[in-house]
Amino acid sequence: MAVPDELAEHLRTVRLVDHHVHGWFTSPGDRPSFEAALNEGSPGPVPAWMSGFDLPVGLAVRRWCAPLLGLPALASADDYWAARSATPYDELVRTFVEAAGVEHWVVDNGLTPGLLDLPEPRSEVVRLEVLLEEVIGADDVPGAFRARLDDAAVRAVGTKTIAAYRTGLDIDWSRPTDAAVVAAALASGPRVVDPLLVAFVVHEAAARGLPLQVHTGLGDRDLDLRRADPLHLLPLLRTVEVPVLLLHCYPFHRQAGYLAQAFDHVSFDVGLAVNHLGARSVELVAESLELAPYAKQLYSSDAYGVPELHVLGSLLWRRAMGEVLGGWLARGDCGLDDAVRIVDLVAAGNARRVYGL
Ligand SMILES: [Zn+2]
Repeated sequence: MAVPDELAEHLRTVRLVDHHVHGWFTSPGDRPSFEAALNEGSPGPVPAWMSGFDLPVGLAVRRWCAPLLGLPALASADDYWAARSATPYDELVRTFVEAAGVEHWVVDNGLTPGLLDLPEPRSEVVRLEVLLEEVIGADDVPGAFRARLDDAAVRAVGTKTIAAYRTGLDIDWSRPTDAAVVAAALASGPRVVDPLLVAFVVHEAAARGLPLQVHTGLGDRDLDLRRADPLHLLPLLRTVEVPVLLLHCYPFHRQAGYLAQAFDHVSFDVGLAVNHLGARSVELVAESLELAPYAKQLYSSDAYGVPELHVLGSLLWRRAMGEVLGGWLARGDCGLDDAVRIVDLVAAGNARRVYGL
């Protein structure tokens, strides 16, 4: 649909805070690894009878990233790969980063060491389970973890739990005693999968007052999606008072919208899915604007490894907001000032407030 000029222009130029994102691979990689990286659910490789370019996100790469490499929109996968391969990697990254129009990156460094750093200005979130794993085996695990967390809290703007990957979100969220933590740590292997230890790190983080990011919904198949519904977090949300950011949430973004309406300290995003739904990200963004207050939703890409994802999240989100809010404008459901204010809140304003950027 035709997005009104003023709204379209605002969406082309508004600077974003990407409030949950990862760095880039250190090298451009070969085509099989690139195509595998486009599939969030499967660890790869892509079977010989299909292509990563035939995923919704692959189609979106050809539609939105090809023009950034001087190709026509929807250039073939072969032409895209040829142009990408002919571009020096640092130039490729720079092109995509600049086109993303991000003013501030909030980076999760915990996933894979050795990714290339995002440019300044950036802030960091601390991955709690990884921090605990650094002290498993210490004499005083609760004390050692608290010391690490105190150090990390000095430089971080938030913390993050991957409980969804390790235990599921349907665990006992009550705060354990130090004695119980010591016993659980003794029984734990190097990879923390004990619900009691996950509850421990989350409560310790909440006690520091930093915003807490919680991965929910879509993720790779390590995760049991049935147990990644943010509604499982109700007992935790009734207990902690720090800002809680429900990350990504698909296909539970409507549940997340409800939680964001019900709890003043809960916000959410539809990152990750905004890339992986490709053309249907318009409907995703429309659904994300159904119930939650506009002050409770943040932009994120959750891009990881492949620099196309850092720019694609931004372009698809801008496009979706234009389609959705342009529709509201056309139907008389909001005015231009309202649409611009909603864009500004989700683009950056809410993240600046929550993280104190
Ligand atoms: Zn992430």
